[in-house]
Amino acid sequence: MNDYTYLIDLKPKGLENFSASYVIKGNRASIIETGPTLTVGNLLAGLKEIGVKREEVDYVAVTHIHIDHAGGAGTLLPHLPNAKLLVHKKGARHLINPERLWISSLQVLGDIAEMYGKFQPVPEERILIAKEGMVLDLGEDIDLTVLEVPGHASHELSFYEKNSNGIFPGDAAGTYLNKFDMVSINTPPPFHLEMALSSLQRLIQMKPRWLYYSHFGPADDAVKKLKNYAARLKLWGEIILEEMKRGESLDVISERILEKDPLAPDVVDYIKNHPIFSRGIIIGNVYGFMEYFRKSMT
Ligand SMILES: [Zn+2]
Repeated sequence: MNDYTYLIDLKPKGLENFSASYVIKGNRASIIETGPTLTVGNLLAGLKEIGVKREEVDYVAVTHIHIDHAGGAGTLLPHLPNAKLLVHKKGARHLINPERLWISSLQVLGDIAEMYGKFQPVPEERILIAKEGMVLDLGEDIDLTVLEVPGHASHELSFYEKNSNGIFPGDAAGTYLNKFDMVSINTPPPFHLEMALSSLQRLIQMKPRWLYYSHFGPADDAVKKLKNYAARLKLWGEIILEEMKRGESLDVISERILEKDPLAPDVVDYIKNHPIFSRGIIIGNVYGFMEYFRKSMT
């Protein structure tokens, strides 16, 4: 990576290589992604380990408000007296009043949401609304530029860091399985295929070198990974739409995807045995596509 960006492995329930927060350390510090409530203690311990004092943190930026990325915001902020929480305006009200967000997290994730832990409300005055093109000065000539990249979520953000020519994509660039150096689909509902593809196009045009995945870790060869992910989304879209036209069910389509997507067998094994990925990740992602097509057909 570089000598000013640190990865903190949040290790929900001890699970390594799954959920990351990043810390950028200039003369002040910023955090990207809070992770869920469950791992706020691990994040604070990680800060201490890299020598960042809690009062030195100026910004906590979240790419979107899904529970595994921003669920811990309301629990984390009281520990960081000078930090502002940077979030898209569509996400801000849900973090201020997280009741509905919690209900929808339970609907999409069931007991995985329970495991991640409830959202605590974020006081409105701690929030800084992120806007396209906004530049956060992190000191020592390090800055982050806000990019709006809807698709995975309608309020998805990525952050561009010019010195390393790297992007923190949130979930806009899929899930990086670092063990296999490959990118897996991440399209839970409400997913928007067309927007996701144009957001990817935009990231590709920036010619980044690095992607700092929240799931999980830094990856070189960013443009190739972004292009592969776009191709993969298109392939899934084609397969799923075709099967839907044939009237196939979610379960059948999920099976077809595993047959037709040229995922290496060891990757399929890894996903099937993974404590979180195995919990319906294929079905959940297929469902995201199906909901998208249903909406766009009506
Ligand atoms: Zn997400």
